[in-house]
Amino acid sequence: MKDQLLDLENDALAVIAGAESMIALQDIRIRYLGKKGAVTDVMKGMRELDPEERPVLGALVNRLKETLEEAFGERSKLLRQTEVANRLASEKIDVTLPGRQSFSGSKHPVTLVTEEIVDIFSSLGFCVEEGPEIEQDFYNFEALNIPKDHPARDMQDTFYVSDDVVLRTHTSPVQVRTMLKQKPPVRVIAPGTVYRRDSDITHSPMFHQIEGFLVDEHVTFGDLKGILTHFLTSYFGKDLGVRFRPSFFPFTEPSAEVDIACVMCGGKGCRVCKGTGWLEILGCGMIDPEVFKSVHYDAEKVSGFAFGMGLERIAMLKYGVSDLRLFFENDLRFLRQF
Ligand SMILES: [Zn+2]
Repeated sequence: MKDQLLDLENDALAVIAGAESMIALQDIRIRYLGKKGAVTDVMKGMRELDPEERPVLGALVNRLKETLEEAFGERSKLLRQTEVANRLASEKIDVTLPGRQSFSGSKHPVTLVTEEIVDIFSSLGFCVEEGPEIEQDFYNFEALNIPKDHPARDMQDTFYVSDDVVLRTHTSPVQVRTMLKQKPPVRVIAPGTVYRRDSDITHSPMFHQIEGFLVDEHVTFGDLKGILTHFLTSYFGKDLGVRFRPSFFPFTEPSAEVDIACVMCGGKGCRVCKGTGWLEILGCGMIDPEVFKSVHYDAEKVSGFAFGMGLERIAMLKYGVSDLRLFFENDLRFLRQF
């Protein structure tokens, strides 16, 4: 019986020492010390022994159990350490590797300028409206008091899709479309893409305009001046010089062009303002009664004003960009500066 116990001990110790994982070790433990394990079997066999032999063997079995428990403990400690070491090795981060550079996108300068201008007019109660870029002659010209034989059509250098369909040359058709579906009062700001046959350092065949108009009872030129001066000083700075010059547009009467004191030289005269100290910034005027006729508004009861400006021109002045074409080349070195 003693020899049997010794064999069992040697077997068990060898198997424990060979266990490669915690799960395997757990199985071995059940095999030797579990309810149906080998050591338990030995203890069951003790019943058949003489009463004098039992305590001796009992002591031996207890010692065997202790030895095995100790071996299980040691092995499990070692296995756990190896597991941690393996995990640390496999999850090791090499902090000396160079990082991956990530670039975040930014808004296009024309988008930035559009949003800032829309914000200022929104705070004055203007709503944003949009219209199609491929436009019927009626909305682009006829309804705006530019009939077929009008010389202003030449000024616009139009892209014709067909005799009666054009790429819109300005955002003003949005005025006509809005007034045809809404009764006064209306306050609208309309940014959008427009097209003209023109291309050089300050002109592009595709560019952006923003148009605004307000129609209500008793609207005067004083309201026009007040709102545009408020807009320009909010946008370019409180002490900005602003002047209105008489001008001509077919869809407004009277009409004016608005200049601001040169933002580059502060009015002293430089290359950008061609030595005059002033920069032309927008066109405006009181909406012509002929336009009201086309949209069935009663010019005896309501009056209104309209204005429009080129967004690239504003962006050029705001950010000091000298060539308009840079806005359309999508060179990342340029765009990342905004
Ligand atoms: Zn200047």
